[in-house]
Amino acid sequence: ATMPPLLSAIANAGRHGVLVKSAVVMERLGAVTKVALDKTGTLTAGAPRVTDIRVLPGTELTEDEVLALAASAEHPSEHPLARAVVVAARERGLPLESARDFAAAPGRGVRAVVAGRVVQVGSPDRLLADADADSRTGEASRTGEAFRAVVAVADDHARTAVLVVVDGTPSALLRLADLPRPGAAEAVAGLRELTGSAPVLLTGDTPSAAAHLAAETGIEDVRAGLLPQDKVAAVREWEARGERVLVVGDGVNDAPALAAAHSGIAMGRSGSDLTLETADAVVVRDELATVPAVVALSRRARRVVV
Ligand code: ADP
Ligand code: MG
Repeated sequence: ATMPPLLSAIANAGRHGVLVKSAVVMERLGAVTKVALDKTGTLTAGAPRVTDIRVLPGTELTEDEVLALAASAEHPSEHPLARAVVVAARERGLPLESARDFAAAPGRGVRAVVAGRVVQVGSPDRLLADADADSRTGEASRTGEAFRAVVAVADDHARTAVLVVVDGTPSALLRLADLPRPGAAEAVAGLRELTGSAPVLLTGDTPSAAAHLAAETGIEDVRAGLLPQDKVAAVREWEARGERVLVVGDGVNDAPALAAAHSGIAMGRSGSDLTLETADAVVVRDELATVPAVVALSRRARRVVV
């Protein structure tokens, strides 16, 4: 007997390096009309590197001291940016200290107590918003001004910026470079052709870093500065207009959007456990080109079934 078309499509997807979790999923993938891609770890290789460290005025810490504190706070995190900060500290031979009270906020950053100091590492925009929310006394609003100056600098560049705050003082700005995945532009073009609509970039990163990557990968529609719930809202908005959205993501921050979308694909290598569980399909071979390939397989199987 020959295999039913959807099952043979699943087998085929497996040969392409994509694990599709069920025949229902295999069938749904061919019906997508719009694709939303995450940036870090999805369109990019997800292995960013720290390219420069700027210690900010008003800090008494040295570059190495701030980096060691940041890396110690980031050590428990599985985020690609966190790994980059840890690697940068290791390369300088800096000793990491254990972090207490570690907390990670998806799309924002991390916070931990290291050597008795409260260390926050994360999105300059988000840290500014938090500082604003806290500012009641005159002293706090001076902190707010310092943050604002930092954020203006942070957004002036194509590269991702991460702010390190030590005991409430903005102490250093790290810049990270993250290259597009090989084949990202081709995958974007393939998805555009298959769905007849322009793929969208959804990211928690700053607008300038997002725009830079979008230009490199042929994406025209960019939504930046998003929290996990904002990614969900974007998906719901499109689906309410009758689109069937495919979300491709990797981070814990993408799990809610993957769950909300018509279809969700996770990048396996960089993917967090929660994301791999939530997704309908997982790219195990770490190539973005497999995403349009699987949509095309589903289309073909559907034509046979119908
Ligand atoms: P993306 O949507 O591009 O995958 P995320 O939503 O994971 O990005 O993160 C958005 C922003 O939040 C990052 O650009 C960074 O500024 C900040 N961020 C999140 N997690 C971390 C972390 N562990 N360390 C430093 N910054 C972080
Ligand atoms: Mg990501």
